[in-house]
Amino acid sequence: MRGVRFLLPAAWLLMLGAVFLAPEKSGPWLLALVLPMAGAAFFLPPRLLWLLAAASSLSSLYLIRVEPLREWLPAAWVAYAMVPFFLWRKARRTEGALAACAKRQRQLSESRELLLGKKRKWTSTARGQEEGISTIVELYGISKRFLATLDLEEAIRIAEEVLKAEGAHLAPSRRQECLSVLREDLEKGRLSLEALSSLPGPAEPPGAERFDILKGQLAMGLRRVGLYQRVQESATHDSLTGLWVRRHFLERLAEEIDRSSRRELKLAFLMVDLDFFKRVNDTYGHLVGDVVLKEAALRLRRSVREIDLVARYGGEEFALALPEANRLLGVQVAERIRQTMSQTNVRAYDELIGMTVSVGVAIFPDDARTVEDLIEAADQAMYRAKALGRNRTVAGVSQL
Ligand code: GH3
Ligand code: MG
Ligand code: MG
Repeated sequence: MRGVRFLLPAAWLLMLGAVFLAPEKSGPWLLALVLPMAGAAFFLPPRLLWLLAAASSLSSLYLIRVEPLREWLPAAWVAYAMVPFFLWRKARRTEGALAACAKRQRQLSESRELLLGKKRKWTSTARGQEEGISTIVELYGISKRFLATLDLEEAIRIAEEVLKAEGAHLAPSRRQECLSVLREDLEKGRLSLEALSSLPGPAEPPGAERFDILKGQLAMGLRRVGLYQRVQESATHDSLTGLWVRRHFLERLAEEIDRSSRRELKLAFLMVDLDFFKRVNDTYGHLVGDVVLKEAALRLRRSVREIDLVARYGGEEFALALPEANRLLGVQVAERIRQTMSQTNVRAYDELIGMTVSVGVAIFPDDARTVEDLIEAADQAMYRAKALGRNRTVAGVSQL
Protein backbone atom coordinates (compact mmCIF):
# COMPACT_ATOMS: atom_id res chain seq x y z
CA MET A 1 0.00 0.00 0.00
CA ARG A 2 2.91 2.30 0.72
CA GLY A 3 3.90 2.14 -2.98
CA VAL A 4 0.44 3.37 -4.02
CA ARG A 5 1.02 6.61 -2.10
CA PHE A 6 3.92 7.49 -4.42
CA LEU A 7 2.80 5.73 -7.54
CA LEU A 8 -0.55 7.48 -7.76
CA PRO A 9 0.78 11.10 -7.58
CA ALA A 10 3.47 10.14 -10.10
CA ALA A 11 0.90 8.67 -12.47
CA TRP A 12 -1.29 11.71 -11.95
CA LEU A 13 1.52 14.13 -12.76
CA LEU A 14 2.39 12.04 -15.83
CA MET A 15 -1.17 12.31 -17.03
CA LEU A 16 -1.24 16.05 -16.34
CA GLY A 17 1.89 16.38 -18.50
CA ALA A 18 0.11 14.33 -21.19
CA VAL A 19 -2.81 16.84 -21.08
CA PHE A 20 -0.43 19.73 -21.83
CA LEU A 21 1.79 17.97 -24.29
CA ALA A 22 -0.83 15.91 -26.21
CA PRO A 23 -0.62 16.64 -29.96
CA GLU A 24 -4.34 16.23 -30.39
CA LYS A 25 -6.26 18.24 -27.86
CA SER A 26 -9.73 17.01 -28.54
CA GLY A 27 -12.39 17.23 -25.84
CA PRO A 28 -13.19 13.47 -25.40
CA TRP A 29 -9.50 12.68 -25.33
CA LEU A 30 -8.90 15.22 -22.58
CA LEU A 31 -11.92 13.89 -20.72
CA ALA A 32 -10.45 10.38 -21.04
CA LEU A 33 -7.35 11.79 -19.27
CA VAL A 34 -9.12 13.95 -16.69
CA LEU A 35 -11.44 11.20 -15.43
CA PRO A 36 -8.64 8.68 -14.54
CA MET A 37 -6.85 11.67 -12.95
CA ALA A 38 -9.96 12.34 -10.86
CA GLY A 39 -10.15 8.64 -10.00
CA ALA A 40 -6.48 8.67 -8.98
CA ALA A 41 -7.07 11.81 -6.91
CA PHE A 42 -9.55 9.78 -4.88
CA PHE A 43 -6.56 8.00 -3.33
CA LEU A 44 -4.26 11.01 -3.08
CA PRO A 45 -3.20 12.46 0.28
CA PRO A 46 -4.85 15.87 1.11
CA ARG A 47 -1.69 17.84 0.39
CA LEU A 48 -1.47 16.44 -3.14
CA LEU A 49 -5.14 17.09 -3.63
CA TRP A 50 -4.40 20.79 -3.25
CA LEU A 51 -1.76 20.32 -5.87
CA LEU A 52 -4.42 18.69 -8.06
CA ALA A 53 -6.68 21.70 -7.48
CA ALA A 54 -3.90 24.06 -8.56
CA ALA A 55 -3.13 21.92 -11.60
CA SER A 56 -6.83 21.84 -12.52
CA SER A 57 -6.95 25.64 -12.33
CA LEU A 58 -3.95 25.85 -14.62
CA SER A 59 -5.50 23.39 -17.04
CA SER A 60 -8.70 25.51 -17.02
CA LEU A 61 -6.72 28.57 -17.97
CA TYR A 62 -5.08 26.59 -20.71
CA LEU A 63 -8.43 25.38 -21.96
CA ILE A 64 -9.76 28.96 -21.99
CA ARG A 65 -6.75 30.03 -24.07
CA VAL A 66 -7.12 27.23 -26.68
CA GLU A 67 -10.10 28.13 -28.73
CA PRO A 68 -11.42 24.72 -29.86
CA LEU A 69 -11.29 23.41 -26.31
CA ARG A 70 -13.27 26.15 -24.69
CA GLU A 71 -16.43 24.14 -24.97
CA TRP A 72 -14.82 21.53 -22.67
CA LEU A 73 -14.22 24.06 -19.97
CA PRO A 74 -17.16 22.78 -17.83
CA ALA A 75 -15.46 19.39 -17.73
CA ALA A 76 -12.39 21.02 -16.21
CA TRP A 77 -14.59 22.88 -13.71
CA VAL A 78 -16.27 19.63 -12.76
CA ALA A 79 -12.87 18.12 -12.10
CA TYR A 80 -11.93 21.23 -10.15
CA ALA A 81 -15.18 21.11 -8.16
CA MET A 82 -14.48 17.54 -7.22
CA VAL A 83 -11.50 18.58 -5.03
CA PRO A 84 -13.59 19.57 -1.96
CA PHE A 85 -15.54 16.33 -2.36
CA PHE A 86 -12.34 14.34 -2.36
CA LEU A 87 -11.10 16.31 0.63
CA TRP A 88 -14.37 15.64 2.46
CA ARG A 89 -14.12 11.96 1.55
CA LYS A 90 -10.56 11.88 2.88
CA ALA A 91 -11.58 13.51 6.13
CA ARG A 92 -14.45 11.01 6.50
CA ARG A 93 -12.14 8.12 5.85
CA THR A 94 -9.56 9.44 8.33
CA GLU A 95 -12.25 9.90 10.94
CA GLY A 96 -13.55 6.40 10.25
CA ALA A 97 -10.02 5.01 10.49
CA LEU A 98 -9.46 6.88 13.77
CA ALA A 99 -12.77 5.61 15.18
CA ALA A 100 -11.91 2.07 14.07
CA CYS A 101 -8.51 2.49 15.70
CA ALA A 102 -10.07 3.70 18.95
CA LYS A 103 -12.52 0.82 18.87
CA ARG A 104 -9.75 -1.68 18.29
CA GLN A 105 -7.76 -0.13 21.12
CA ARG A 106 -10.78 -0.40 23.42
CA GLN A 107 -11.18 -4.04 22.46
CA LEU A 108 -7.52 -4.66 23.08
CA SER A 109 -7.57 -3.05 26.48
CA GLU A 110 -10.72 -4.97 27.36
CA SER A 111 -9.16 -8.25 26.39
CA ARG A 112 -6.02 -7.21 28.30
CA GLU A 113 -8.17 -6.60 31.38
CA LEU A 114 -9.80 -9.95 30.83
CA LEU A 115 -6.42 -11.64 30.59
CA LEU A 116 -5.18 -9.81 33.68
CA GLY A 117 -8.31 -10.93 35.55
CA LYS A 118 -7.71 -14.50 34.47
CA LYS A 119 -4.08 -14.25 35.48
CA ARG A 120 -5.07 -12.89 38.89
CA LYS A 121 -7.54 -15.74 39.29
CA TRP A 122 -5.00 -18.33 38.24
CA THR A 123 -2.42 -16.83 40.55
CA SER A 124 -4.81 -16.84 43.46
CA THR A 125 -5.91 -20.39 42.62
CA ALA A 126 -2.28 -21.44 42.45
CA ARG A 127 -1.61 -19.65 45.73
CA GLY A 128 -4.68 -21.32 47.23
CA GLN A 129 -3.41 -24.70 46.09
CA GLU A 130 0.03 -23.93 47.48
CA GLU A 131 -1.52 -22.94 50.80
CA GLY A 132 -3.62 -26.08 50.73
CA ILE A 133 -0.56 -28.21 50.19
CA SER A 134 1.40 -26.49 52.94
CA THR A 135 -1.60 -26.88 55.27
CA ILE A 136 -1.71 -30.60 54.56
CA VAL A 137 2.04 -30.90 55.11
CA GLU A 138 1.76 -29.00 58.38
CA LEU A 139 -1.21 -31.01 59.60
CA TYR A 140 0.66 -34.15 58.69
CA GLY A 141 3.62 -32.86 60.70
CA ILE A 142 1.46 -32.23 63.75
CA SER A 143 -0.20 -35.60 63.51
CA LYS A 144 3.24 -37.20 63.12
CA ARG A 145 4.44 -35.46 66.25
CA PHE A 146 1.39 -36.77 68.09
CA LEU A 147 2.07 -40.28 66.84
CA ALA A 148 5.67 -39.99 67.95
CA THR A 149 4.89 -38.98 71.50
CA LEU A 150 3.43 -41.15 74.19
CA ASP A 151 4.17 -38.62 76.84
CA LEU A 152 1.24 -36.65 78.20
CA GLU A 153 3.32 -33.60 79.03
CA GLU A 154 4.75 -33.51 75.52
CA ALA A 155 1.28 -33.97 73.99
CA ILE A 156 -0.10 -31.11 76.07
CA ARG A 157 2.89 -28.97 75.04
CA ILE A 158 2.18 -29.63 71.35
CA ALA A 159 -1.52 -28.90 71.90
CA GLU A 160 -0.56 -25.68 73.64
CA GLU A 161 1.68 -24.70 70.74
CA VAL A 162 -1.05 -25.43 68.19
CA LEU A 163 -3.71 -23.60 70.17
CA LYS A 164 -1.43 -20.62 70.55
CA ALA A 165 -0.84 -20.45 66.80
CA GLU A 166 -4.30 -21.39 65.59
CA GLY A 167 -6.45 -20.01 68.35
CA ALA A 168 -5.03 -16.52 68.04
CA HIS A 169 -8.59 -15.27 67.97
CA LEU A 170 -9.22 -16.71 71.46
CA ALA A 171 -8.49 -14.67 74.54
CA PRO A 172 -5.37 -16.03 76.30
CA SER A 173 -7.42 -16.75 79.41
CA ARG A 174 -9.92 -18.80 77.38
CA ARG A 175 -7.09 -20.71 75.72
CA GLN A 176 -5.54 -21.42 79.10
CA GLU A 177 -8.88 -22.54 80.45
CA CYS A 178 -9.33 -25.00 77.58
CA LEU A 179 -5.88 -26.43 78.12
CA SER A 180 -6.28 -26.88 81.83
CA VAL A 181 -9.62 -28.66 81.35
CA LEU A 182 -7.94 -30.95 78.85
CA ARG A 183 -4.98 -31.59 81.10
CA GLU A 184 -7.24 -32.34 84.06
CA ASP A 185 -9.41 -34.71 82.03
CA LEU A 186 -6.46 -36.61 80.70
CA GLU A 187 -4.64 -36.82 83.99
CA LYS A 188 -7.73 -38.24 85.62
CA GLY A 189 -8.01 -40.74 82.80
CA ARG A 190 -11.33 -39.29 81.75
CA LEU A 191 -11.93 -38.40 78.19
CA SER A 192 -13.94 -35.33 77.67
CA LEU A 193 -13.14 -33.62 74.45
CA GLU A 194 -15.71 -30.92 75.04
CA ALA A 195 -12.95 -28.52 75.88
CA LEU A 196 -11.56 -28.89 72.39
CA SER A 197 -14.75 -29.24 70.45
CA SER A 198 -16.31 -26.25 72.13
CA LEU A 199 -13.46 -24.05 70.99
CA PRO A 200 -14.90 -21.62 68.49
CA GLY A 201 -12.81 -21.58 65.33
CA PRO A 202 -12.19 -18.53 63.14
CA ALA A 203 -15.38 -17.57 61.30
CA GLU A 204 -13.80 -17.28 57.87
CA PRO A 205 -12.77 -20.28 55.84
CA PRO A 206 -10.22 -21.68 55.17
CA GLY A 207 -9.00 -20.84 58.70
CA ALA A 208 -12.12 -22.37 60.17
CA GLU A 209 -11.63 -25.64 58.31
CA ARG A 210 -8.00 -25.78 59.32
CA PHE A 211 -8.90 -25.13 62.93
CA ASP A 212 -11.53 -27.89 62.83
CA ILE A 213 -9.03 -30.33 61.40
CA LEU A 214 -6.49 -29.37 64.04
CA LYS A 215 -9.04 -29.83 66.79
CA GLY A 216 -9.68 -33.33 65.48
CA GLN A 217 -5.95 -34.02 65.32
CA LEU A 218 -5.38 -32.78 68.85
CA ALA A 219 -8.32 -34.73 70.18
CA MET A 220 -7.14 -37.93 68.51
CA GLY A 221 -3.55 -37.45 69.60
CA LEU A 222 -4.49 -36.71 73.19
CA ARG A 223 -6.93 -39.61 73.29
CA ARG A 224 -4.18 -41.95 72.13
CA VAL A 225 -1.69 -40.64 74.67
CA GLY A 226 -4.32 -40.78 77.41
CA LEU A 227 -5.19 -44.39 76.59
CA TYR A 228 -1.55 -45.37 76.44
CA GLN A 229 -0.89 -43.76 79.79
CA ARG A 230 -3.82 -45.55 81.34
CA VAL A 231 -2.69 -48.91 79.98
CA GLN A 232 0.82 -48.22 81.25
CA GLU A 233 -0.52 -47.12 84.59
CA SER A 234 -2.72 -50.18 85.06
CA ALA A 235 0.20 -52.44 84.20
CA THR A 236 2.39 -50.95 86.90
CA HIS A 237 0.03 -49.37 89.44
CA ASP A 238 -2.70 -50.72 91.63
CA SER A 239 -5.99 -49.01 90.85
CA LEU A 240 -7.21 -48.80 94.48
CA THR A 241 -4.11 -47.58 96.28
CA GLY A 242 -2.02 -46.17 93.43
CA LEU A 243 0.97 -48.17 94.69
CA TRP A 244 3.00 -50.45 92.43
CA VAL A 245 1.56 -53.86 91.65
CA ARG A 246 3.45 -56.96 92.76
CA ARG A 247 4.89 -57.89 89.33
CA HIS A 248 6.30 -54.43 88.67
CA PHE A 249 7.65 -54.23 92.22
CA LEU A 250 9.45 -57.59 91.87
CA GLU A 251 11.07 -56.46 88.62
CA ARG A 252 12.34 -53.24 90.22
CA LEU A 253 13.41 -55.16 93.35
CA ALA A 254 15.51 -57.55 91.24
CA GLU A 255 17.27 -54.53 89.71
CA GLU A 256 17.86 -52.99 93.13
CA ILE A 257 19.26 -56.24 94.53
CA ASP A 258 21.56 -56.47 91.53
CA ARG A 259 22.75 -52.91 92.08
CA SER A 260 23.18 -53.43 95.84
CA SER A 261 25.13 -56.62 95.16
CA ARG A 262 27.49 -54.85 92.72
CA ARG A 263 28.06 -51.90 95.02
CA GLU A 264 28.09 -54.04 98.17
CA LEU A 265 25.22 -52.19 99.74
CA LYS A 266 22.58 -53.47 102.10
CA LEU A 267 18.87 -53.37 101.37
CA ALA A 268 16.00 -53.69 103.83
CA PHE A 269 12.88 -55.57 102.75
CA LEU A 270 9.65 -55.04 104.73
CA MET A 271 6.45 -57.06 104.59
CA VAL A 272 3.55 -55.14 106.14
CA ASP A 273 0.19 -56.86 106.83
CA LEU A 274 -2.91 -55.24 108.28
CA ASP A 275 -4.08 -56.92 111.47
CA PHE A 276 -7.53 -58.47 111.61
CA PHE A 277 -8.52 -56.72 108.43
CA LYS A 278 -11.15 -59.30 107.68
CA ARG A 279 -13.03 -58.02 110.69
CA VAL A 280 -13.14 -54.51 109.22
CA ASN A 281 -14.74 -55.89 106.09
CA ASP A 282 -17.10 -58.08 107.99
CA THR A 283 -18.16 -55.29 110.35
CA TYR A 284 -18.34 -52.25 108.07
CA GLY A 285 -18.43 -53.70 104.58
CA HIS A 286 -15.98 -53.74 101.67
CA LEU A 287 -16.39 -50.07 100.80
CA VAL A 288 -15.17 -49.05 104.23
CA GLY A 289 -12.42 -51.68 103.97
CA ASP A 290 -11.30 -50.06 100.71
CA VAL A 291 -11.03 -46.64 102.33
CA VAL A 292 -8.89 -48.14 105.10
CA LEU A 293 -6.63 -49.80 102.53
CA LYS A 294 -6.23 -46.51 100.66
CA GLU A 295 -5.38 -44.68 103.84
CA ALA A 296 -2.88 -47.39 104.83
CA ALA A 297 -1.17 -47.00 101.43
CA LEU A 298 -1.02 -43.23 101.86
CA ARG A 299 0.52 -43.50 105.32
CA LEU A 300 3.05 -46.03 104.03
CA ARG A 301 4.15 -43.76 101.22
CA ARG A 302 4.50 -40.85 103.61
CA SER A 303 6.63 -42.89 106.01
CA VAL A 304 9.41 -43.66 103.54
CA ARG A 305 11.84 -41.85 101.23
CA GLU A 306 11.19 -41.01 97.60
CA ILE A 307 13.67 -43.65 96.44
CA ASP A 308 12.06 -46.47 98.45
CA LEU A 309 9.93 -48.98 96.56
CA VAL A 310 6.39 -49.48 97.88
CA ALA A 311 3.90 -52.00 96.51
CA ARG A 312 0.56 -53.54 97.28
CA TYR A 313 1.78 -57.11 97.47
CA GLY A 314 -1.55 -58.79 98.01
CA GLY A 315 -5.02 -57.96 99.38
CA GLU A 316 -4.09 -56.18 102.65
CA GLU A 317 -0.40 -56.89 102.39
CA PHE A 318 2.24 -54.37 101.41
CA ALA A 319 5.91 -54.83 100.51
CA LEU A 320 8.65 -52.23 100.78
CA ALA A 321 12.26 -52.21 99.63
CA LEU A 322 14.59 -49.64 101.16
CA PRO A 323 17.84 -49.40 99.18
CA GLU A 324 21.02 -48.66 101.14
CA ALA A 325 19.31 -49.48 104.45
CA ASN A 326 20.83 -51.82 107.03
CA ARG A 327 18.97 -53.74 109.73
CA LEU A 328 18.93 -50.80 112.12
CA LEU A 329 17.46 -48.41 109.57
CA GLY A 330 15.07 -51.09 108.30
CA VAL A 331 13.70 -51.69 111.75
CA GLN A 332 13.48 -47.95 112.46
CA VAL A 333 11.37 -47.44 109.32
CA ALA A 334 9.24 -50.50 110.16
CA GLU A 335 8.56 -49.09 113.60
CA ARG A 336 7.74 -45.68 112.18
CA ILE A 337 5.25 -47.33 109.83
CA ARG A 338 3.71 -49.37 112.62
CA GLN A 339 3.28 -46.31 114.80
CA THR A 340 1.93 -44.13 112.00
CA MET A 341 -0.67 -46.75 111.18
CA SER A 342 -2.02 -47.00 114.68
CA GLN A 343 -1.55 -43.37 115.69
CA THR A 344 -4.90 -42.07 114.42
CA ASN A 345 -8.11 -43.80 113.48
CA VAL A 346 -9.14 -43.87 109.86
CA ARG A 347 -12.30 -41.99 108.92
CA ALA A 348 -14.25 -44.04 106.41
CA TYR A 349 -17.67 -42.61 105.61
CA ASP A 350 -19.16 -42.16 109.08
CA GLU A 351 -16.96 -44.71 110.81
CA LEU A 352 -13.75 -44.24 112.73
CA ILE A 353 -11.62 -47.34 112.43
CA GLY A 354 -8.48 -48.23 114.30
CA MET A 355 -5.71 -49.87 112.29
CA THR A 356 -2.61 -51.81 113.30
CA VAL A 357 -0.03 -53.66 111.23
CA SER A 358 2.48 -56.43 111.75
CA VAL A 359 5.82 -55.93 109.97
CA GLY A 360 8.45 -58.45 109.02
CA VAL A 361 11.94 -57.19 108.15
CA ALA A 362 14.64 -59.05 106.17
CA ILE A 363 18.02 -57.64 105.14
CA PHE A 364 19.94 -58.25 101.93
CA PRO A 365 22.44 -59.86 101.95
CA ASP A 366 22.45 -60.73 105.67
CA ASP A 367 19.18 -62.73 105.78
CA ALA A 368 18.92 -63.75 102.13
CA ARG A 369 20.75 -63.23 98.82
CA THR A 370 17.93 -63.74 96.31
CA VAL A 371 14.59 -62.00 95.83
CA GLU A 372 12.64 -65.18 96.63
CA ASP A 373 14.62 -65.90 99.77
CA LEU A 374 14.33 -62.30 100.90
CA ILE A 375 10.54 -62.36 100.55
CA GLU A 376 10.40 -65.68 102.31
CA ALA A 377 12.49 -64.34 105.22
CA ALA A 378 10.39 -61.18 105.56
CA ASP A 379 7.18 -63.24 105.36
CA GLN A 380 8.36 -65.53 108.13
CA ALA A 381 9.29 -62.54 110.29
CA MET A 382 5.86 -61.01 109.65
CA TYR A 383 4.05 -64.25 110.59
CA ARG A 384 6.16 -64.34 113.71
CA ALA A 385 5.01 -60.82 114.54
CA LYS A 386 1.41 -62.02 114.10
CA ALA A 387 2.06 -65.00 116.28
CA LEU A 388 3.58 -62.79 118.95
CA GLY A 389 0.36 -60.79 119.25
CA ARG A 390 0.31 -58.48 116.16
CA ASN A 391 0.97 -54.70 116.00
CA ARG A 392 4.68 -55.30 116.15
CA THR A 393 7.88 -55.55 114.10
CA VAL A 394 10.04 -58.63 113.75
CA ALA A 395 13.42 -58.46 112.02
CA GLY A 396 14.89 -61.67 110.70
CA VAL A 397 13.95 -64.22 113.32
CA SER A 398 14.63 -62.20 116.44
CA GLN A 399 11.87 -60.17 117.97
CA LEU A 400 12.61 -56.58 118.88
P1 GH3 B 1 -4.45 -61.17 110.10
O1 GH3 B 1 -4.29 -60.20 111.20
O2 GH3 B 1 -4.08 -62.54 110.46
O3 GH3 B 1 -3.75 -60.70 108.91
O4 GH3 B 1 -5.96 -61.20 109.82
P2 GH3 B 1 -6.67 -60.63 108.58
O5 GH3 B 1 -8.13 -60.63 108.81
O6 GH3 B 1 -6.07 -59.31 108.24
O7 GH3 B 1 -6.23 -61.65 107.49
P3 GH3 B 1 -7.06 -62.49 106.45
O8 GH3 B 1 -6.03 -63.02 105.47
O9 GH3 B 1 -7.86 -63.50 107.17
O10 GH3 B 1 -8.02 -61.52 105.76
C1 GH3 B 1 -7.59 -60.59 104.80
C2 GH3 B 1 -8.82 -59.89 104.32
O11 GH3 B 1 -8.48 -58.78 103.48
C3 GH3 B 1 -9.70 -60.78 103.50
C4 GH3 B 1 -10.19 -59.94 102.38
O12 GH3 B 1 -11.58 -59.81 102.38
C5 GH3 B 1 -9.60 -58.59 102.66
N1 GH3 B 1 -9.23 -57.91 101.44
C6 GH3 B 1 -8.29 -58.29 100.56
N2 GH3 B 1 -8.24 -57.41 99.52
C7 GH3 B 1 -9.21 -56.47 99.77
C8 GH3 B 1 -9.65 -55.31 99.11
O13 GH3 B 1 -9.17 -54.94 98.03
N3 GH3 B 1 -10.66 -54.58 99.68
C9 GH3 B 1 -11.21 -54.93 100.84
N4 GH3 B 1 -12.17 -54.17 101.35
N5 GH3 B 1 -10.82 -56.01 101.48
C10 GH3 B 1 -9.83 -56.79 100.98
MG1 MG C 1 -3.99 -59.31 107.62
MG1 MG D 1 -2.74 -61.02 104.84
